[in-house]
Amino acid sequence: MPELPEVELARRCLQKWASKRRVTAATAARSRVIRPGPRALEPLRDATFFRFERRGKNLLLTARKGAQLHGLWSHLGMTGKWLRRPVAAEAPRFARASLTMSGGSVLYYCDMRLFGRLQLVPGARFEDIPELRALGPDPLTDGVDVPRLRQRLAALRAPIKVALLDQRLLAGVGNIQASESLYRAGIDPRRRASDLDDKEVRRLATGIRRSIAATLARFERDVGCEEDMAYVEEGAPNPFAVYDRAGETCRRCRRAVIVRIVQAGRATYFCPHCQH
Ligand SMILES: [Zn+2]
Repeated sequence: MPELPEVELARRCLQKWASKRRVTAATAARSRVIRPGPRALEPLRDATFFRFERRGKNLLLTARKGAQLHGLWSHLGMTGKWLRRPVAAEAPRFARASLTMSGGSVLYYCDMRLFGRLQLVPGARFEDIPELRALGPDPLTDGVDVPRLRQRLAALRAPIKVALLDQRLLAGVGNIQASESLYRAGIDPRRRASDLDDKEVRRLATGIRRSIAATLARFERDVGCEEDMAYVEEGAPNPFAVYDRAGETCRRCRRAVIVRIVQAGRATYFCPHCQH
């Protein structure tokens, strides 16, 4: 499932593919992903993308057509991805929308399970969208403010792993990065969020930043923009330290075995020896 690093890679690829290029055709199939409807992307025809932003797991692209601005809000949901193909090539599987670009390439938004979203935002007024306004700071672009994080966690009775999934706390941390960050910080995912002390919150903040940076560097090196992104759930090589590694020996202590538990319906992975 795409989290901050996967979405940031998508942002960098889209910037590479679409920057200063004109959209010559924009099409979408009827699907719940495309909002408000299948004709939603038509205003993008003849527009030129020039701004490529990301907030948490949300891609916010801005295009200009004459004096008009158009925003494109893209959330990858569970299985969404952006792929590039030459104009003459066949559309990839699960393509839900396409943007044909000047220069001879087509950008496809593909989504097998349809939990993503592709929405035109008139005037590129992303600040008017309540879901985006509610997001907390983005660990990659805003950093992690330790006193703020500590203050927010102090009010939460949920286990720390569950608390980290709330996008109002930190935008972009998902199920994978939550497990990875807590492993790096040496914190037991079952601990109550409000029980973490100053030192632990500082370690957690460092764990979040480093886990995101390491994952992103790995994707940039191993996937890049030329290969189609595959998620771990789809059988891609696992770049993570604990995520999806139940039963394997912990790489840090080399004694304990990584354990999988379920918290709030989502899988959590941790080392019972290294995390307290
Ligand atoms: Zn261990």
